[in-house]
Amino acid sequence: TTAPVTVLGLGLMGTALARAFLKAGHPTTVWNRTAAKAAPLVAEGARLAPTIGDALAAGGVTIVCLTDYSAVYDLLDADLDGATLVNLTSGDSAQAREAAEWAGKRGARYLDGAIMAIPSSIGTDEAVILLSGPRPDFDLGALGTVSHLGEDPGLASLYDVAGLAMMWSVLNAWLQGTAMLKTAGVDAATYATFAQQIAVGVAGWLPGYAEQVDKGSFPAEVSALETDARAMAHMVEESEALGVNAELPRLIKAMADRAIEAGHGGEQYPVLIREFEWAGELV
Ligand code: NDP
Repeated sequence: TTAPVTVLGLGLMGTALARAFLKAGHPTTVWNRTAAKAAPLVAEGARLAPTIGDALAAGGVTIVCLTDYSAVYDLLDADLDGATLVNLTSGDSAQAREAAEWAGKRGARYLDGAIMAIPSSIGTDEAVILLSGPRPDFDLGALGTVSHLGEDPGLASLYDVAGLAMMWSVLNAWLQGTAMLKTAGVDAATYATFAQQIAVGVAGWLPGYAEQVDKGSFPAEVSALETDARAMAHMVEESEALGVNAELPRLIKAMADRAIEAGHGGEQYPVLIREFEWAGELV
C-alpha cells in the first residue's frame, strides 16, 4: 500500500490527493505548472520533480488532476512509454475513451477516473473515487473508497454523471416539497426529516425495480402507472394552486402521460425507462 506515486497538477484537488498519499506513507513525487504551489507539500515530505519528464520517471503510478482534458494533452505531449496514468481530471465518457486511445499510442497504460468528493474529504471513506480501464494492480486506497468499474475507460465518467442525475433529482424533489410546505408555515428543517425518510424508502425500491428494467417486463405488483399519474395530477394541481413553481411536477406527469398514451398505463413505474432511453424533446 505504500508504493511510490506521482501527482501531476496541484490545484485544490491535486493538493488534497498528494497530501492523502503522503499521510498514508506513499513516497510522493509532485509536479505543478506553477511550482510554488508545491511548497506546502514539499514541507510535508513530497519530492518536487523539476520537470514533467522527471516526474514521469519517478516510477509507480502517475495521478493526473488538471482543469480539463486539453490541459492534459498540452502537458503530456511526450513519450509516455511504460507509464501508468490515472487521469482524475473531470470530463465526459467520450473524452475519457479518446484520452485512453491517445495514451495507448504513446505507450502508456491508462485508467480514467472520476472523483465524487470535495478536497477536504479526500483521504476519508466518504471520498468516492471511480476508476475504469485496465484492472489496477496498484492501491489508491489512501484517497478514499476506490471502485474499479470495468475495462471501458468511459465508465467512470458515465457513473459520475449518472450519480449527478440522482443527486440533483433528489435535491430538486426536496426543494419542491419545501416550497409547497412553506406556504403552510412549515419550515425547511421540519420537512427535511420527513423528506429524508421518503428518499431512503424510495431508494430501497431500486434493486427490485432494476430487475424489471433488466428483464424488460413491468408487471404492476405495487401500483399501476395510471394510479401514479392520478397522484401526479394532484402534485401539479396543488403546486399551481399554491402558486409555487409547477415545472418539475408537470415534467414528471408529462412523461408518465406519454407512456400511458403509448399503452403502458397498466404496467409498473419503471416502464418509464423507455421515456429516458428516447432522445426526443418534450414540447
Ligand atoms: P484548480 O483550478 O484548483 O487546479 C487546476 C490545476 O490544473 C492546477 O494545478 C493548474 O496548474 C493545472 N493546469 C491547468 N491548465 C494547465 C495546463 N495547460 N498545463 C499544466 N497545468 C495546467 O482545480 P481543482 O484542483 O479543483 O480541479 C482539478 C480537477 O479535479 C478538475 O477536473 C475538477 O473538475 C476535478 N474535481 C475537483 C473537485 C473539487 O471539489 N475541487 C471535485 C471533483 C473533481 P497551475 O497551478 O499552474 O494553474
